Amino acid sequence: MRVVVTGGAGFLGSHLCRALLGRGDEVVAIDNLITGSMRNVEDLMAHPGFTFQHHDVSNYVHVPGTVDAVMHLASPASPADFQRIPIQILKVGSRGTQHALGLAKDKGSRFFLASTSEVYGDPLVHPQPETYWGNVNPIGPRGVYDEAKRFAEAMTMAYHRFHQVDVAIVRIFNTYGPAMRPDDGRAVSNFLVQALQGKPITVYGDGSQSRSFTYVDDEIRGFLALLDSDETGPINIGNDNEFTILELARLAIEVTGSSSDIVHEPLPMDDPMQRRPDLTLARTRLGWKPEVQLREGLDKTAQFFRTVL
Ligand code: NAD
Ligand code: UDP
Repeated sequence: MRVVVTGGAGFLGSHLCRALLGRGDEVVAIDNLITGSMRNVEDLMAHPGFTFQHHDVSNYVHVPGTVDAVMHLASPASPADFQRIPIQILKVGSRGTQHALGLAKDKGSRFFLASTSEVYGDPLVHPQPETYWGNVNPIGPRGVYDEAKRFAEAMTMAYHRFHQVDVAIVRIFNTYGPAMRPDDGRAVSNFLVQALQGKPITVYGDGSQSRSFTYVDDEIRGFLALLDSDETGPINIGNDNEFTILELARLAIEVTGSSSDIVHEPLPMDDPMQRRPDLTLARTRLGWKPEVQLREGLDKTAQFFRTVL
């Protein structure tokens, strides 16, 4: 297959490009590097099946030649970015998604949207099945991301219904692993980097809020299973083992052998209190399940951060 990956120089995008090339696909990565880095794809630049376009997909997207699939991952994803670059996030979720869908329509490609568990907002149903419509504050600081992704899902389904574009929507739950930015502001990267540097671990609030963390290799395996299927989705891909943020902080200290203390800082506005995927659809329709548990994944991620800090 010849696959276009928007956001191909990001954390998940670069792993995806590598996995696609590894199974013999050709990849055209498109990225404006707003939160990604060429370092993530350095090893791929000499690969004969890989091409890179430095481009903002919120502007018109042009790819010469045939395209079998368009995988739309371009979007900043860390809550720290929601305050820093809110308009870019809204633009890439709306205009960027429309351009990526337009490319898929033009080329007759399968379209794959990287959506998010954030469409469930601060969920009132737990765990979250795909049928849950969510509890999102549209005007809060997270609204720029949550609503952009909800709009992207709506636009994807409209192209599917109105233009018969073959689509797949994945709802990604907190994913971590090598190639995360050490300073991207997310809990896993913050905690591991703080622990490795012997700095205080910053737990927001009392740390009783929960998340379910997925190791990147599991997530990418799920993406490919969905891409290769006939499913439209949305389908949750995540890990259904749930941890409090305080448990995550303690585990980060343990796997790094750090002597850091835990300090508490204010909880950001609209921070979801709980999050865990219902994985019934992924297990039954895709035959997929997560395999890497948190301690092992944190250990691998800490090894990566040791090499870049
Ligand atoms: P990331 O920031 O590492 O990757 C996003 C990439 O998109 C970056 O390389 C960035 O430069 C690029 N990008 C952003 N705006 C662009 C634009 N207008 N034009 C071209 N490129 C653009 O983040 P990530 O964690 O790899 O996330 C990838 C995708 O997965 C995002 O769509 C995100 O919303 C989604 N997602 C990620 C998670 C997670 O836990 N990592 C969870 C839910 C959803
Ligand atoms: N968090 C924290 N300390 C940090 C960064 C994040 O306590 O240094 C908390 C954050 O408030 C949230 C959880 O960890 O409750 C997960 O945050 P992250 O930014 O990783 O992802 P989210 O699921 O909120 O998008």
